[in-house]
Amino acid sequence: MRQPSVAVIGTGFGGLAAAIELKRSGLDDLVIFERGPDVGGVWRENTYPGAACDVPSPYYSFSFEPNRNWPRRFAGQPAILDYLRGVANKYDLRRHIRFGTEVTAAHYVETTRTWRIRTGDGTVEVDVLVSAVGQLSRPSWPDIPGRETFRGAALHSAQWDHDVELAGKRVAVIGTGASAVQFVPEIQPEVAHLTVFQRSPAHLVPRSDTEFGYRAAHKVRAAQLIERAAWWGFSEAVTLSFLRSEVLSRALTAYSRRHMRRQVPDPDLFEKVWPQYPIGCKRMLFSGDYLPALAQSDVDVIDTRISVWTKCTSWYRDATGRISTNWPGTSLEYRRRAAFQPSVYEPAD
Ligand SMILES: Cc1cc2nc3c(=O)[nH]c(=O)nc-3n(C[C@H](O)[C@H](O)[C@H](O)COP(=O)(O)OP(=O)(O)OC[C@H]3O[C@@H](n4cnc5c(N)ncnc54)[C@H](O)[C@@H]3O)c2cc1C
Repeated sequence: MRQPSVAVIGTGFGGLAAAIELKRSGLDDLVIFERGPDVGGVWRENTYPGAACDVPSPYYSFSFEPNRNWPRRFAGQPAILDYLRGVANKYDLRRHIRFGTEVTAAHYVETTRTWRIRTGDGTVEVDVLVSAVGQLSRPSWPDIPGRETFRGAALHSAQWDHDVELAGKRVAVIGTGASAVQFVPEIQPEVAHLTVFQRSPAHLVPRSDTEFGYRAAHKVRAAQLIERAAWWGFSEAVTLSFLRSEVLSRALTAYSRRHMRRQVPDPDLFEKVWPQYPIGCKRMLFSGDYLPALAQSDVDVIDTRISVWTKCTSWYRDATGRISTNWPGTSLEYRRRAAFQPSVYEPAD
């Protein structure tokens, strides 16, 4: 019987895993499309300060490919990208990959029972199509009126512009999800003032990060598998607490609350950052340095939504219509001193 031909789109964790399993099952008529210049998916793209996995590396790796070289428990982006490059080499995937080739359309043709795939380089027809395009590989910008009029530097965490110098600048961060929780503590010490816009806070639990470099035990495969199994058990218990067990849910909520309370002595700030929804309704995050960064005197946490993104680099209008500034000091004072005109902050038509 003729072997089916297969196309995979994407070379992140998903695409590489699919390709490896296809090859293991004896398929060699395999083409992998990747629009980027290398393998890695989000780990090729996300280079923001502090970028790292948010679950421990022994658990965030292929079960069939434990990595004795994780430098730390929560490995950073360079180590994860190295790992994925190594996996692609080891399983001889590169000869199948067409880098810089974006799939722009794919249609199933009933008569031939094949997939017709259109790419920038032409059309390919295969029997089976596997999509592993991920969900985070296209950066999402908030749809706030006036964004295009903003005169300051604007960057997305998934496309960090390392040429933008943040030291000594007034910086505003929109969003408090997994990426912000990692890069806010990295940039906070160097910027002049930080304004963090938060729509909904996350439950945080301690991040037991540690260097693995000197731990000989970590080099032993059995030790890795035990650590992986332990984290798997922990994650399953966390999932149970979200879905089925009120007792576990209460225990996890108390664990998170104690951790966050300890890190935020200021009751007003705690009020802002403590989630008002049951644990598990939004992704719980591991972090030991995010809240201490927010607690610094040169950081403001704004929990009302932004309604207008102004062209002036210092002003925004929140959902209540209130005009504020990420300039240290009160907006009223600055407004008076600067003879402030609304036209400065209104977006251009
Ligand atoms: C900073 C960060 C930390 C994370 N930490 C964790 C974690 O700890 N645990 C966890 O489980 N998850 C984590 N994630 C989620 C992460 O997205 C997944 O774990 C996983 O890496 C996704 O792999 P993927 O292969 O599905 O997609 P991606 O990594 O997004 O790969 C998709 C690939 O497809 C390519 N592609 C897309 N469209 C096309 C097209 N039309 N044509 C050709 N190529 C295309 C892209 O260029 C990309 O290379 C994290 C994500 C980020 C950004």
